[in-house]
Amino acid sequence: MSGRVALVGEILVDLLGEGGQSLEAAALFRPSPGGAPANAAVAAARAGATAAFVGRVGDDAFGRLLRATLEGAGVDARLLRADPALFTTLAFVMPAARGAHGFQFMRGADAALSPSDLPPELFAGLAALGCGGVSLSAPEARRSTLAALRGARATGALTVFDVNWRPPLWPSRSEALEAFREAVTLADLVKCNEAELELLCGSGAGAEEAARGLLQAEGRPGPAAVVVTLGDQGALWVGPTGGVRHRGFAVDAVDAIGAGDCFTGTLLAWWARHVRAGGREELRRLPAERIATLLRRCNAAAALSTLLPGAMGAMPTAERVDAFLEAVRTE
Ligand code: ADP
Repeated sequence: MSGRVALVGEILVDLLGEGGQSLEAAALFRPSPGGAPANAAVAAARAGATAAFVGRVGDDAFGRLLRATLEGAGVDARLLRADPALFTTLAFVMPAARGAHGFQFMRGADAALSPSDLPPELFAGLAALGCGGVSLSAPEARRSTLAALRGARATGALTVFDVNWRPPLWPSRSEALEAFREAVTLADLVKCNEAELELLCGSGAGAEEAARGLLQAEGRPGPAAVVVTLGDQGALWVGPTGGVRHRGFAVDAVDAIGAGDCFTGTLLAWWARHVRAGGREELRRLPAERIATLLRRCNAAAALSTLLPGAMGAMPTAERVDAFLEAVRTE
């Protein structure tokens, strides 16, 4: 029996630009369900977990599309609220083989996520909870995201924070940093990419040394582990027992939108299946060989997610990941 995971935060429609190299030059925009925590919920469900999503959409066509997409992927969307006063959030994005660029947001219902959207039953028996940095950039959603992290931690669930820094949503770098630091102190595991690691730790140090600086130390709150995703170079895990690196898998990537979210969702599903309870203390005790197995699986799933355009529709099933790992057994 696998434990339950929950993802809390933004869900939105990505409008993926086509026919040009920039948003200004795009000839058309194709709607595609997105939002990092929502993508991760779909990835976790495809990986075999019982996954719930908590967030807000508008009471409109895009909101209905997003609810149907979550439900179609097997995500429990009962805590997805349709806000009658706001439109569903939109994000205009130019896809790229490495990440994406030109994010431009039309913020709507996701920003209104309220602490009242987090009922006590959300936390009961929860194995892990994931959330991210986009929700921190709006006051009400920020209160709710921090409340979700506190609630999950109080019940012993693993808390995972994906920094997911989107500069256009923040008035300044320093305000983003201040908000991320608050969430980092409430997270057992922090997931970031190299640019986000540099924001949190400053430049100069190598990735492993920088990530080590984020860990909880005597008298200082902080995560028990940090995982840095490195695009097509895989990922680096830094925890109390040291660093573990997996170099990733070479694939013919079409677009990497949602690859990081696939990594997070796969990680949450793995935790719910193989560890389930024990949160932070279990994370601290995870031996290097188990971390290596976990990274290999997350990198495989995330690499597979780059083979198809868009985010949610590109998340691979557990069987697909198993077959891929079997085919590359020696790597
Ligand atoms: P984010 O999208 O959060 O910035 P990354 O770009 O680091 O994150 O990608 C997340 C993960 O997706 C990587 O750790 C890797 O496993 C996988 N990935 C991303 N891009 C590629 C690629 N071009 N080829 C293979 N795997 C990739």
